[in-house]
Amino acid sequence: MRDFIGFGISPFTTPTAADPVFLGFGIETARYNDYASQPDVRGKDVLVLQGEPTDGRGHYLLSGSSQESSWGSGYRKAALARDKGARSVVVITFAGTTQFEAMGAPITEELAEPAFALAAPVPQDERTLAETPPEGISLYITSFDLGLAMLGAKVEALQNYVLSSYSTGKPPKPLQPVPFTFSIPQKQEAITSENVLGLLEGTTKKDELVVISAHYDHLGTQHDTIYNGADDDGSGTSAVLALAQAFAQAKAAGQGPQRSLLFLLNTGEEKGLLGSEYYTSHPVVPLQSTIADLNIDMVGRTDPRHNSKSEYVYVIGSDRLSPELHALNEAANKRYTHLKLDYKYNEPNDPEQLYTRSDHYNFAKHRIPVIFYTSGLHQDYHKATDDVEQIEFDKLEQRARLVFYTAWDLANRPRRPAVMVK
Ligand SMILES: [Zn+2]
Repeated sequence: MRDFIGFGISPFTTPTAADPVFLGFGIETARYNDYASQPDVRGKDVLVLQGEPTDGRGHYLLSGSSQESSWGSGYRKAALARDKGARSVVVITFAGTTQFEAMGAPITEELAEPAFALAAPVPQDERTLAETPPEGISLYITSFDLGLAMLGAKVEALQNYVLSSYSTGKPPKPLQPVPFTFSIPQKQEAITSENVLGLLEGTTKKDELVVISAHYDHLGTQHDTIYNGADDDGSGTSAVLALAQAFAQAKAAGQGPQRSLLFLLNTGEEKGLLGSEYYTSHPVVPLQSTIADLNIDMVGRTDPRHNSKSEYVYVIGSDRLSPELHALNEAANKRYTHLKLDYKYNEPNDPEQLYTRSDHYNFAKHRIPVIFYTSGLHQDYHKATDDVEQIEFDKLEQRARLVFYTAWDLANRPRRPAVMVK
């Protein structure tokens, strides 16, 4: 029987007495505040209910409409409890044990794989709060039956709680959890890794920075098979090195760029964009002075949507934060490289959501304009067959040249590209 699913680093690797406190739906807004009567949850294990107050017929108290709020997300509740200093969060679902087991099976399978996270969590923005498990707190999701047991409550008591939270519009008197013990063993290992940075100082605007990035990690070895990742992202790593060489050569010849350039090779991209997450929370030049990130990930192949004669590159994200950046990339291509710029994966509703899937995304989260260059997914993607024999070096070069011309313009244009107001 499986009654809970855990996310994050377990503080309960040996049996530990819980210090539970029930916080209703775990919501804190001006309209509805579960923390009003129990504001201090430091060091405690916070128990909250799934979802938000509703009449059960699709009407939500917080929005006053049929629109669910982001408080429907257990992740968001957990992030709030973390910010208030809680030790762990238990989200009690309304799923019976059998239903919970069925629901949890695929997640449990995924969680059985080793997970990686930064040792020190970084703050999340409002939008991602509801979408990803927060770092820096352990989160447990339980079946209804286990939740009832932790609360020492009868079904009716919990039903009344939920009904009256909606009908009265405010949190009812909290239920009192019973004493219990956590025992959640977990194999934990600290791993050190490095980003590789090369800074080329600019001439007249050296305090402003253009980042050119790729990731140098890949999948490593699996079942004695080496995953070389020639395209993902050996191609981008090589392109960044070639650009570093070109800019350094220009500088040596007395034609150095006005703004500074950071050549950033990230680690841990395949483990959840960790290297760029670390960099953007520990930047070597303040993020306010970072004018753009040009990220190169998989640029050495031809994908099934194009034929071998096609000279193309997918451009993703260029117009999301700065139409000016989008325009200058197009101008550089028109003037120099003449590639077909394919915007398929830039469509906001594209199912692949590539915009969120490489290192530039961590820059975009900080509202730094980005361009993600890629030649797209292919049959060897994340397979042991992603090898150097498959790389089309002439195409890799063309694409790297476009990044170069765009970077050159960014580094030398009089004004940095304007960022759209939110
Ligand atoms: Zn990649």
